[in-house]
Amino acid sequence: MQDFEIYVLGEEYRIVFDDTIVEHGDCNPEKKIIKINPDSEDVQSTIFHEILHAILYQSGQHYNLGDETAEGVVRALEHGLMQLDLIREFSLEESIQHNSDSEDDCEAVRDFRESNTGKHNDK
Ligand SMILES: [Zn+2]
Repeated sequence: MQDFEIYVLGEEYRIVFDDTIVEHGDCNPEKKIIKINPDSEDVQSTIFHEILHAILYQSGQHYNLGDETAEGVVRALEHGLMQLDLIREFSLEESIQHNSDSEDDCEAVRDFRESNTGKHNDK
């Protein structure tokens, strides 16, 4: 999977795939880097989860909520929104396409499609 950039409330975040991290994903608001473990069982949900963290950081709400409550809010939104097929199918791909005109990002989109296709059969 190829790294790519997205804009979160006007700030550029780089999405980096790193199979050495312990967690499924990590959001670093100082460095504006979201690390995603490509071995995570649901990469698209993990990316979505970390983007939600980035939104809370960029809006300042993370600091109002505190770490524990912010994590709860992010998990609730992740699970609720990912259950909407529309969001699951299109939001990330549209976000990438709207945020960048680089051709590399189209490959990232294809990688997401491939990683999510047939996952119920393979795992
Ligand atoms: Zn989290």
